[in-house]
Amino acid sequence: MPKVESFTLDHTIVQAPYVRVAGVEHNGKGATVQKFDLRFLQPNTDSIPTGALHTLEHYLSIFLREEIDGLIDISPMGCRTGFYLAVWEEHPVSKIALALHHALQRVLEQTEVPAATAKECGNYKDHSLFSAKEYARQVLSQGISTDPFDHSRLIQAD
Ligand code: ZN
Repeated sequence: MPKVESFTLDHTIVQAPYVRVAGVEHNGKGATVQKFDLRFLQPNTDSIPTGALHTLEHYLSIFLREEIDGLIDISPMGCRTGFYLAVWEEHPVSKIALALHHALQRVLEQTEVPAATAKECGNYKDHSLFSAKEYARQVLSQGISTDPFDHSRLIQAD
């Protein structure tokens, strides 16, 4: 059976919200891809409804690309407690956490969901800007830690 990094994480002892490195891949030809776990909610206590998760995905796909050079992908976790982010090269956790903080701040200012049409999206009817803002606000008010096991290590936002 292949080893899946996220299956080795003890989800009962993490302290969300946090950002952590979930893996680094080197292809041996000079290419490096890093994966991050952007955990919004405490696992097995709550989950983001699909409308909010989907709307956050649309916003983060734009705002995090503006903040992070080499971003490859940001996608929701199946458990709906956060997102995975893949990026070229290695980056400090604090940089990704700060970028997420800024992106969530921008979500609070939005009035229209981007690319929410049948042509641009696979389920354009399933969006909730209201709910996306509520979860963004919740993560910002709790603070984003750079240590998944110690929520006192919050990033200091400017
Ligand atoms: Zn969509």
